[in-house]
Amino acid sequence: MTDIIRLLPDNVANQIAAGEVIQRPASAVKELLENSLDAGATEIRLIIKDAGKTLIQVIDNGSGMSVMDARMSLERHATSKISKADDLFAIRTMGFRGEALPSIAAISMLEMKTRLHDSELATLLEVEGSIVKNQYPVAAPAGTSISIKNLFFNVPARRSFLKSDRIESNHILEEFIRVAIASPSVRFEYYDDSTLKYKLEIGNLKQRLVAIFGENYKERLLPVEQKTDIANISGYIVKPEYCRKSRGEQYFYVNKRYIRHSYLNHAAQTAYEELISSDTYPGYFIFFEIDPTRIDINIHPTKTEVNFLDNQHLYAFLRSSVKKTLGMFSIGPSLDFDTEPAFNFNHPSDKAPVQPHIQINPDYNPFDARTNRPQAGTSQRKTEPLPNWKSLYDEIKKVESISYAELPLTHIDSEKENPVEVTTSLLFILGRYIASPVKSGLMLIDVFRARERIVHDQILAGFENQNNPIQQQMFPLTIDFQPTDIETLNEILPELSLLGFSLENFGTNSFIVRGMPTKLADENARNLIERILQNYKSGLLEVKLDRRAMLARSISKSVSYKSNKPLELREMEEIIEALFRCNAPEVSPTGKPVIRIVAQDDLETMFA
Ligand code: ADP
Ligand code: MG
Repeated sequence: MTDIIRLLPDNVANQIAAGEVIQRPASAVKELLENSLDAGATEIRLIIKDAGKTLIQVIDNGSGMSVMDARMSLERHATSKISKADDLFAIRTMGFRGEALPSIAAISMLEMKTRLHDSELATLLEVEGSIVKNQYPVAAPAGTSISIKNLFFNVPARRSFLKSDRIESNHILEEFIRVAIASPSVRFEYYDDSTLKYKLEIGNLKQRLVAIFGENYKERLLPVEQKTDIANISGYIVKPEYCRKSRGEQYFYVNKRYIRHSYLNHAAQTAYEELISSDTYPGYFIFFEIDPTRIDINIHPTKTEVNFLDNQHLYAFLRSSVKKTLGMFSIGPSLDFDTEPAFNFNHPSDKAPVQPHIQINPDYNPFDARTNRPQAGTSQRKTEPLPNWKSLYDEIKKVESISYAELPLTHIDSEKENPVEVTTSLLFILGRYIASPVKSGLMLIDVFRARERIVHDQILAGFENQNNPIQQQMFPLTIDFQPTDIETLNEILPELSLLGFSLENFGTNSFIVRGMPTKLADENARNLIERILQNYKSGLLEVKLDRRAMLARSISKSVSYKSNKPLELREMEEIIEALFRCNAPEVSPTGKPVIRIVAQDDLETMFA
């Protein structure tokens, strides 16, 4: 038998390695930005064309490379950052594997121009799928400029795997933001298809956050700062009232490297407990400084996951630090003396102060049609006798079984003639379900899901119906969004306005809400729109539906159901009526059950 094992040629090995390191344009952006930071740059310019599919260019004023290093940087496992195994345990730089540049070069057309600060000339390298096509000296500023053209040109399968430009651009923007937050002492510019999207000047962390997320973050952030022997924590958290319904603003860094860590996230979440509702996510920009020997960064090739030796300690430390900040904030809400106008207790001296006299009718309630109400304070509570349980029992026995599934609308509509029966046959239980006896047993309706189904079908119908009623907002509301959401919002704006949302672009990161669809006018506009975006985006990643179907789904999932008060009978009736008008009342738009029937047989066996 002949020997069959061979070493892979370098360019093939590099292509395979690239699959692990470079999944999408954003991964290349991350690697290039990190290399620039590692090279000590104080100015970094990122230039993107066609969501990175045509061009990704990073220009820095960092150290630059010698002719030899420029060539070496494209070799696998060539790195200037570690030289012996021990160094692995003390990594302070972003990169260290020497994999990124060769990987990128294997799957793109790469051009590198690089000049050391004390060299006269720069080196220009042109590489195509790992093969160096050209190398010659050129005149160029000190530092490095790397252009990646036609990413995945020789890996068509990967290229076709890429998502829409909007999604890929959002990934790039997110990487840019992650890096930019961690390096406020570096000046950044970000050009997307020739427009300057971000220009971030050198400043402190707070200034950087405000520059990225918008002016109103000035009042939203609370500082966190704690030190222990094992780690230091610093950064900002978002005041509870400004926390979002989406996970977006959660940034952990370890030694300036962005990480994800669900365990630490949980620590932050529990620190906010009781200050934010369960569907709201805490916002944070938190930096851990930890001795690198106590971290293992090596567990994931893209390095956003890490392991700590002191997991539990860090958990407790983070939680108490966040709690402390929140506690200080709630005891004395921070008055910003720079911006707060001074109070003036003096009144104009020539006139004696006159007590203003206003006549009011304390009973007047514009929403109350009834007259002759006794005064609030003097009213005697009418004490009703406790209902006798026996008579209640009799009422229940009188109830005629109704099968909504068989006879839905007309029957419920005729309820006015039969108030007693319907009254006692609908019960709102556990803050979420409507229970009702039906012919075959006990029907349970999940109200949350019923709402979803109803809103979903109404939204879809709304697209057909060209003039959906708008409820104008009494006070137009300005909402600022995370940069990655702005493009999503712009994309679905035409459909939203068709449905009766009246939104208007305002400044870079904001929209003004002038009106809402009348049907959704009760919702908190800010929360609703944020949730719609969140659901829309997460749906995008899961299934491919047309945009209207996607929107109907995301809006229906976003409408809040106010569970803090029990449903009135009329509300339950309306829900049931609307539900059975839908095409598929028994399942939610995402396929979850809305109606369940506990069969009489099952009930009987329960009591057997
Ligand atoms: P790593 O960052 O893991 O060392 P890379 O493949 O990303 O591996 O880069 C290889 C080497 O090329 C780096 O170690 C560094 O010496 C050099 N290099 C890459 N980008 C730059 C840059 N922008 N400026 C200076 N040197 C760079
Ligand atoms: Mg690197």
